[in-house]
Amino acid sequence: MEKKISGFHQDEESFWVAELECGHNQHVRHRPPLIIRPWVNDEEGRKERLGTLLNCVVCDSESTG
Ligand SMILES: [Zn+2]
Repeated sequence: MEKKISGFHQDEESFWVAELECGHNQHVRHRPPLIIRPWVNDEEGRKERLGTLLNCVVCDSESTG
């Protein structure tokens, strides 16, 4: 389910976590070549992503039971 990003924080391992409007958190790791998200390590890049949509796997699993 697509949810808006309301904020970011770092976990204890310094990975970036997106805070979604639904209240769930989701890691947004930059892990090439599988996951290309160079913007997560950049403050401006994260700011630009605020309010954009991210697929929330937690909401997905709750909606499908
Ligand atoms: Zn969610």
